[in-house]
Amino acid sequence: MPEQCPTCYQKYELEPGFYLGAMFVSYLLNIIVVALGVLLYILATDDFNEIHCILLVAVIILGLGPYMLHLSRSAWLSVFVKYNEAWYTENPNEGKGR
Ligand SMILES: [Zn+2]
Repeated sequence: MPEQCPTCYQKYELEPGFYLGAMFVSYLLNIIVVALGVLLYILATDDFNEIHCILLVAVIILGLGPYMLHLSRSAWLSVFVKYNEAWYTENPNEGKGR
């Protein structure tokens, strides 16, 4: 992960251990994925086999792991750093080099 945004130089790690909170976002997102995976399995099959359901959800969770890591970190950072749409017009001389 880069230390700062290449465009606006916003620091990504605001303090040591900042992304520990992203763990809770990741947990919440994975609960949603597990619920959707179980629902998908129930809808797709006639007889419910717990082992097959767990294996399906495990494969989905493992496959989405890297994506969930970055999504949860991004969501956690967006809680503390607000997007400024007018950044370029407010800072015309910033972000064009250091
Ligand atoms: Zn930026």
